[in-house]
Amino acid sequence: MDRHIFRFRILLALRRKETVYPTPSPYRTVNESLYYPSTRNIVMLLLTKPFSSFLGVAASLLGCALVIVIEPAAAWGKDGHEIVGNLAWRLISNATAAHVKNILRRDDGSYGDDDESSSPLGSVADWADKARYSQAFHWSAPLHYIDVHDDAITGGCPVQNRTGFDPSTETFSCQFDYARDCANDWCVAGAIANFTNQLPIGLVGANATATASPDSDELLRESLKFLVHFVGDIHQPLHASRASDRGGNTIDVHFNRSSGAEADSSSMKSLSGRDYQEYSRRNLRHSHHHSSNLHSVWDDSIIKESMHVDYHGSRQSMEEALFQFILDTQNTDEWKAWMACPNGGDRACTSLWGEESLDYALTWAYANVDGTPVREGDELSGEYYETRLPVVKERLAVAAVRLAVTLEMNLAGQERDSVAVV
Ligand SMILES: [Zn+2]
Repeated sequence: MDRHIFRFRILLALRRKETVYPTPSPYRTVNESLYYPSTRNIVMLLLTKPFSSFLGVAASLLGCALVIVIEPAAAWGKDGHEIVGNLAWRLISNATAAHVKNILRRDDGSYGDDDESSSPLGSVADWADKARYSQAFHWSAPLHYIDVHDDAITGGCPVQNRTGFDPSTETFSCQFDYARDCANDWCVAGAIANFTNQLPIGLVGANATATASPDSDELLRESLKFLVHFVGDIHQPLHASRASDRGGNTIDVHFNRSSGAEADSSSMKSLSGRDYQEYSRRNLRHSHHHSSNLHSVWDDSIIKESMHVDYHGSRQSMEEALFQFILDTQNTDEWKAWMACPNGGDRACTSLWGEESLDYALTWAYANVDGTPVREGDELSGEYYETRLPVVKERLAVAAVRLAVTLEMNLAGQERDSVAVV
């Protein structure tokens, strides 16, 4: 790109007096030297470097611009994040809920949600996705996902076929490597641990308001809002997946639930005449081809489709069903797996969550129903939707449970098994 264009942009950046908030403490203290692509850092770099390094700066700017332009789409859409926040809210104890309310009490609502049907956790769950596109929080964009560097892995990260896959005899080298894929905690697994560890156990009780300064209040609020969001993100399989296709963002697909949706016709038989008409109307409305990319199918399309077809378009009804699913899962082996390492403040746990999502991505998201890899231009049929929907629902539920446990342990200092629902 032309050097003059860079000069022009830098001048523009210098003239635009934007408010740049300090980077929250975890990412200030963990790695002081990390380069954040904020206007302030760019200006500081220009002021402190000799002109001879101008080209280097320009190259860095181009790099930053590219990072911003090609960064993956937001994780779970607004619905998914709100569902996770609202379910977690129902799972936490009254004591923990009081801590949460206290931390959020002076939230100015910027980037928040005015949906009155959302709980305090649900209404801030989507904040980080809006904030990342603001000047003040550009730096946080890479914290929404894990890029598993499949290009550096022998054999890459091919789709897995669970049937017949025996981990004891087969070697599968595609794994989340924290040092390689989350250097300096710069990924969603590190972000969850860092922001969790900002929460002061027992210090911010419902009545203990005098100790916090406005600044630390603000950082605490941000930490909680980031945490609620990122626990959702890490459980979206394509948010811990291949760097080479940016978590499925570069794989354009057609999402067409009505093609080959045999599973629907069986459930339709039990519908009465009027219900059937209603079903058909909804089905027609929502069964048109969606041209999309694989990532956004998992962020939004599957959830939206289910919400409209199965829950009359009501997010609350879908939440109710998922809450019941959580209750029914207790005391099962599945529950034990959810609870094996549920503390977001522990990198061993968040690493496990990332590894789990990678496994789900390679088994369910990147694979067609016949086991072949999803490729550019593929049509994701009704069968893909029907078989992946339970995975999406399970991911939302487990995210909510782990978020609730993390808050119990790190806000109220509870033992991990004391989630109110247990
Ligand atoms: Zn996100």
